[in-house]
Amino acid sequence: MRIDVVSIFPEYLAPLELSLIGKARQDGILDLHVHDLRSYTTDRHRTVDDTPYGGGAGMVMKPEPWSQALTAVAEARPGHGGKPVLIVPSPAGERFTQALAHELAVEEHLAFACGRYEGIDERVIEWAGDHFDVRPVSLGDYVLNGGEVAVLAMVEAVGRLLPGVVGNPESLVEESHSDGLLEYPVYTKPAVWRDREVPAILLSGNHGKIAQWRRHEQFRRTSERRPDLLEVFDAGKLPKADRLALQELGYDIVDGRPVRRQGTAEPAG
Ligand code: SAM
Repeated sequence: MRIDVVSIFPEYLAPLELSLIGKARQDGILDLHVHDLRSYTTDRHRTVDDTPYGGGAGMVMKPEPWSQALTAVAEARPGHGGKPVLIVPSPAGERFTQALAHELAVEEHLAFACGRYEGIDERVIEWAGDHFDVRPVSLGDYVLNGGEVAVLAMVEAVGRLLPGVVGNPESLVEESHSDGLLEYPVYTKPAVWRDREVPAILLSGNHGKIAQWRRHEQFRRTSERRPDLLEVFDAGKLPKADRLALQELGYDIVDGRPVRRQGTAEPAG
């Protein structure tokens, strides 16, 4: 996969040289390029921003350096046909999720346009649609100073789904959000630490029972921490053991969705 990132702070993306993503680049799995937006300016001061039309606080990123940079990125597209996907990090975008990470992980070419200040002149986003499949994407409902932190998160989430990046692909299967639930709690040695014992079932060697316990813990944790995920969880075709686990936690399955039983205490947390 080729990834291009355009930013006024290319150094901000340096962590993408480390750890599994850095290794994926060395191994040729990820061909990642970071571009300095200022190198696409033409004035002496390398200006990338100007005051907003209509007044108001802050500055807006000028369209021309962006169009120059993004044209260069589009022309670098490997292979033929189709448009690269251009992710525009924005608190006003669709929410970044594990499902979107999976969707992006099958693309041949991703580009990221890191906004700063009050964001990028809207006409760039419209114009870019001629060259890219444009997707404004938000990391969450809060405001960052720039798109770089969002890009670090998204590139890591997408990059680790590429074949060969994570050593044991099994570990991707059971993770939080891979099946609409949070992951079960995990433990390592020693079996007793500061008087706290690892759940006995994990030491039993009974893999069937361990799998059942882990599944129950997934439901319990999701119910406690993210009941919103359970509300949209597809429980229509669940095996009996899973249905029982949900019932024990105070849920009935109605029209294929877990519904908290009347009079059941709200989950803590
Ligand atoms: N004025 C913009 C608004 O209210 O929608 C916020 C601009 S923010 C200070 C500057 C840049 O940070 C944005 O252009 C975007 O690239 C990035 N950014 C801020 N919050 C973000 C979020 N939640 N997700 C993704 N990118 C974000």
